Formats: sequence, C-alpha cells, structure tokens
Amino acid sequence: MAQAPDDEKAGGLVIKSEHSLTKKYLTPELYAKLKDHKTKTTGTTLDQCIACAVQLDNQHVGVYAADEDCYVDFRELFDPVIEDYHNIKEKRAEKAKAGKPLHESNLNVKDLKGNINNDVPVASTRIRVGRNIKGYGLSPGITKSQRLEVEELMKEIFGKLKGDLKGNYYPLKGMKKEVQNQLIADHFLFKEGDPNLKLGGMERDWPEGRGIFHNDDKTFLVWVNEEDQLRIISMQKGSDVVGCFERLTRGIAEIEALLKAAGKEFQYSGDYGFFHSCPTNLGTGMRGSVHVPLPNWNKKGKEELRKRCNEMGVQPRGIHGEATKDDSGVFDLSNKYRLGYSEVELIQMMIDGVNKIWEEECALGK
Ligand code: ADP
Ligand code: MG
Repeated sequence: MAQAPDDEKAGGLVIKSEHSLTKKYLTPELYAKLKDHKTKTTGTTLDQCIACAVQLDNQHVGVYAADEDCYVDFRELFDPVIEDYHNIKEKRAEKAKAGKPLHESNLNVKDLKGNINNDVPVASTRIRVGRNIKGYGLSPGITKSQRLEVEELMKEIFGKLKGDLKGNYYPLKGMKKEVQNQLIADHFLFKEGDPNLKLGGMERDWPEGRGIFHNDDKTFLVWVNEEDQLRIISMQKGSDVVGCFERLTRGIAEIEALLKAAGKEFQYSGDYGFFHSCPTNLGTGMRGSVHVPLPNWNKKGKEELRKRCNEMGVQPRGIHGEATKDDSGVFDLSNKYRLGYSEVELIQMMIDGVNKIWEEECALGK
C-alpha cells in the first residue's frame, strides 16, 4: 500500500517554515493528538498557536501562547521548543535534581561585575522585560474588553509613579501620525504591521487599548498591549548598562508593588518564570541590548557574527526592531537567552560578550 504523504497524515498540515522549531517538534502524530483541543482561559487551538510557522517561511520558532494554559495543554510541543531555544535541557535536569525551580530571579544590580568598556562606541543602551497580569489572556488570546481593562489599570498605576520614573501615558488611539512616526523613528515606540504579530492574533482591534508611558527624559518607558500586556523598558544614550539596569529594576519593583496594592500580580511559575506570549521570552522576559557599529564584522559577514555571538549567549539584530532589515553595519547586540539564567547572569553575558566582540572588531581592522 502506498504511504500517505506526511501532510496528509497530519490532517493536511503543511508547515511553511521548514527550519522552524515548530516543524522540528510537531510530528504528525502529535498534531493529530492536540489539534481538536481548546484551552480553558481563551478557547485557543493549536492551529492558532502555530499560524506563524504554518503561513510564513522565515520563522525560527513559529509558535505563540495565547494564555498560560497553552504551555500546559500543548506542553508536548512547547517544552521541547523551549528547551531547544534556551539551551536548557541539562540545566533543567540539574535544577530539578537539586530541588530548585528552573527560573530564579536576581535583579540585584550590585551583583554585576564591570560594565561595557569605555572604548566601545555604543550609541545607546536599552533593557526591557515583558510582564503579563494574572487573570487576562496573553496578547494572542486577550479579549478587547480585557485589553481595555489592562490599559485602565495601568493608567492608574502610571499616575502613581514618583521621582525620575514619573511621566505620562500616551494612548495610540488618537495619537497624531507624525508623533507616532517620530516615536518609532527614535526607537521609543512599537510599530503596527509586524507580520508575526498579525498572524499571531496580536493586532486585533488595533489601536484600541495600546499605548506608551514614558518619563520626561524618555529613559523609563512602558509599552501597553503590544506582544505582551506590558513591556517595561529602561533606555539611555551611551554604554552605561549598569545604570540602565538599576533604573529598570526600580521601575519593575514599583510597578509590581502598585499592582499588588490593586490586588493584581504577574503571571509567573517556577518552571517557566514570567509567562509571555512568545516562548523565547519565558523566564526573565528580559532583553538587554546595545547599538554598536561593527563595520569589520559586517564585512566579514552577518552569519559569521551570528555564530560568534551565539557562542557567548549573545544575539545580533538590526537596529530598527526584530522584523526589520538593515544594512547600516550598526548592530543591536543583546542576551540571547531569557530562561534558565537570572537577570544578572544574562546582563553579565551581554556585557562580557559585547566587550569581546568589540576587541575582535578592532583586531579585524588591523
Ligand atoms: P523587543 O525585543 O523589545 O521587542 P525589538 O527588536 O522589537 O525589541 O525593538 C524594539 C524597539 O527598540 C526598536 O525600535 C529598536 O530600534 C529599539 N531598540 C532596541 N534596542 C535598542 C538600543 N540599544 N538602543 C536604542 N533603541 C533600541
Ligand atoms: Mg519586538
């Protein structure tokens, strides 16, 4: 008897992103087993979670979670994807053996050693974490009314921030196009039309419930209802990663305390750390990055740079956001992992990696 082709066995499933982790771990048998299930919190199916891998051909991961349940109900897909991306298979086993949770936070700035070296010509530094509030769906599954509720709640919290964190909230709805474009060009605001976010269901009811908070200096910012309910961001010109981290940790602590006073808490578990819609953000949800020109590395090739960075737990990107092409020779270098390491460990990896890459950049120029 003739063998049915793979996609037929999988009930017609064809995954366009051939090299994605979704394709790697979603066997036809697993797909058949999970495809009719709907999650309790948001009624999400596996097909909705994997829409990016199925419909786009450029995904490295290709799967999003619409609520905390997805990570449990579709665990047979998410777990190997998470272990593969964050490189934590062994770490997970070690921690389990020691009776420890996989994710352990450390936001103590005093534990950082050194900083970016003075000779590295960093244009700007930015560190963000994602956070989502318990009781509401993650961005791919959140309802319109929940999204508006999160926005209302955050407006109240923003009004209570003090000192250098004090500022104003600017909703996207009604924002003048020029203002919006300027904020995007200056790297402060997210933009509409990211194909991943669209297919992931994260641009429903745009621009309703979205917005940006920032302090007067635009060094402390919070995005509301983009890929996560909250992206808490600290950024500044120059290379002082330690100072940037210090402001971020204060901001996170203040927001968390104000939420707690309002009877709310972040979605969190010891196994996954802070929950996020994208499995690459699980754990700390933190990405600390610097913008730095690397003309010699650029000549050598982006793939070479990617490989070298990878060895040090660092990821190079273009400087206009993840899904944007850029050939300026200026790179966004950030910590690659977010889960299985503490915030301090990840920032340390980034600092050490950037110093090393710059040393090599100079050597390449000789
Ligand atoms: P995220 O991981 O926070 O979603 P993206 O790659 O999508 O990051 O970028 C979001 C925005 O932040 C973009 O406008 C990008 O240019 C800006 N950005 C990221 N890192 C820096 C940095 N070190 N300095 C200035 N802007 C930055
Ligand atoms: Mg992004």
